[in-house]
Amino acid sequence: MEPLRKTLEDANRGAVAIGHFNISDLATLKAVFEAARDLNVPVIVGASEGERQFMGVRQVAAIVRSLREEHDYPIFLNADHTHSLPSALEAAKAGFDWIVFDLSTLPFEENVRQTKTAVEALKALRPDILVEGEIGDIGSGSEIHDTAPDLQRGLTTPTEAKQFVQETGVDTLAPAVGNMHGMLKSMVAGETRKRLDIERIRAIKAATQIFMTLHGASGTDDDDLRQAIGAGITVIHINTEVRLAWRRGLDAALAKQPAEIVPYKLLPPVVDSVKHTVAARLVLFSTGRRARPAAR
Ligand SMILES: [Zn+2]
Repeated sequence: MEPLRKTLEDANRGAVAIGHFNISDLATLKAVFEAARDLNVPVIVGASEGERQFMGVRQVAAIVRSLREEHDYPIFLNADHTHSLPSALEAAKAGFDWIVFDLSTLPFEENVRQTKTAVEALKALRPDILVEGEIGDIGSGSEIHDTAPDLQRGLTTPTEAKQFVQETGVDTLAPAVGNMHGMLKSMVAGETRKRLDIERIRAIKAATQIFMTLHGASGTDDDDLRQAIGAGITVIHINTEVRLAWRRGLDAALAKQPAEIVPYKLLPPVVDSVKHTVAARLVLFSTGRRARPAAR
């Protein structure tokens, strides 16, 4: 099974993106894995600090590893939005493939200093691990928001991106390019879509030549996502859409079977609902991808 870095290089070369989907439970993991397998594309599972706390850091790592080994399949695990070095080291020791070290709320110089320290500590422990840094403001909370933050103020510039990448030694970068965490009520209702600053993505890619991750992509205009991939985005994070599908699937299952108490009878519609959402995104992200050879 090829390592994560090779998977990103292949995606970058093929001008496609890898989907990254956050999970909090086994039903969601099952949905993400099945959707990826049906389409025969690599996939990344994310677990933020809150999601890891709920599932167990070592436990989620063990389950994802078991899928990868049993099916010889390129499914990877990312420690999403990790806010401290001890938390990052804990995930690295548990076997996560990738750490998003997010100190983007700190002043730029402090973010650079601490991210550099984290990269060195994580690589000393696990030379194969990938570390992502984040600059700019893309809000927080993959939830339904009433009002939109002012994204214009926190956009990443190519100059600071270049400086950040050079000084920290990160493997991947999460820029602020019009994306934001969570969705507005109007997006859930299908009335509005997030729009991306494609030229900014292209300029940051040209300045850094680094792998770039688009966070907070739920509710983004499909054509903007296609263009963002063409401009240099290699991984796309979807969380809120997954959570929304999970909730809708659960609501429907409970309404349809009000007396049912058996979890494995109630949860399959949740898996189907999430799988449908994940599959639609994976098809969009991997347009143009040649099908990889079937797993041996
Ligand atoms: Zn994120």
